[in-house]
Amino acid sequence: MTTKAFGAKAADKKLEAMDITRRAPGPHDVQIEIAYCGICHSDLHQVRSEWGGTLYPCVPGHEIVGHVSAVGGHVTRYKVGDVVGVGCLVDSCQTCPSCDEGLEQFCENGWTGTYNSATPDAPGHTLGGYSQRIVVHERFVLKITHPQEQLAAVAPLLCAGITTYSPLRHWGAGPGKKVGIVGIGGLGHMGIKLAHAMGAHTVAFTTSETKRQDALKLGADEVVISKNPDDMAQHAGSFDFILDTVGASHNLDAYLVLLKRDATMCLVGAPEHPHPAPTVFNLILGRKAIAGSLIGGLPETQEMLDFCAAKGITADIEMIRAQDVDDAYERMLKSDVKYRFVMDIATMG
Ligand SMILES: [Zn+2]
Ligand SMILES: [Zn+2]
Repeated sequence: MTTKAFGAKAADKKLEAMDITRRAPGPHDVQIEIAYCGICHSDLHQVRSEWGGTLYPCVPGHEIVGHVSAVGGHVTRYKVGDVVGVGCLVDSCQTCPSCDEGLEQFCENGWTGTYNSATPDAPGHTLGGYSQRIVVHERFVLKITHPQEQLAAVAPLLCAGITTYSPLRHWGAGPGKKVGIVGIGGLGHMGIKLAHAMGAHTVAFTTSETKRQDALKLGADEVVISKNPDDMAQHAGSFDFILDTVGASHNLDAYLVLLKRDATMCLVGAPEHPHPAPTVFNLILGRKAIAGSLIGGLPETQEMLDFCAAKGITADIEMIRAQDVDDAYERMLKSDVKYRFVMDIATMG
């Protein structure tokens, strides 16, 4: 089925309107009319082939919300009209131990990303959510129970939300725990909201004094200006967990010394250039750990959406027209957005 989309034909080309083809729904497939798609920094990296290996045409987008318009004969979880979401994954082997545990993001046979992954469908690689329609296996579709008017602001939960929710849950953010969130961007602003909603004492780290009030509004109990050594020193050895959302390479030692004994700092930003190697003594002295985390599996993504609906949590967004996506990318590079752009797919007309 022909579907309107926005994508790039090469790494050095701007995004443009194009027609793509979606498969007819198979027995386990859900066909979704997309209402909104969040704009993630990964979209920009991939569309410009900054991580290498981008397949063209490239239609990015993995923060998808919309309505079910058709289902295959064996679909049991969804019906026409349901409000649903699709995140970063549209398939996996569904049989390996990780998939069996609902940790499809760690599929041992390779998962299928929502865009830029191999697929039997034309044109041989997946095409994402900057499009009017998508067809996805029901296992990789999420139910959305937020009020209809919040739908656009729910879209970023599908990547930015789960990317921060999963490590916060895994390392036990909750009452009685002191949790740091480094960086206040698309990921970080969700990390602050979620850590606060989980009941943790939430401390936001930012390099910029101008973001202090914003961080407090998002739910931070305290804000630390990371450029100020005295400010940082006051928190030495006090954190149960630190979630680092910064996507540029930076000094990790400044945060390792803030962890308690046996505490972990988890990285979810993916810098183009590696971080400077941390001082090993900062790990040895206190049995501290540096860890990483990747989005979340489907069961946990559903748990996150349900948690956010119950707590009234959405992303802070700025809506754009499809035609303005290149401008949005330029602004995103300057961190000139509070805190996530969302494309109104209706503007593809
Ligand atoms: Zn993303
Ligand atoms: Zn698997």
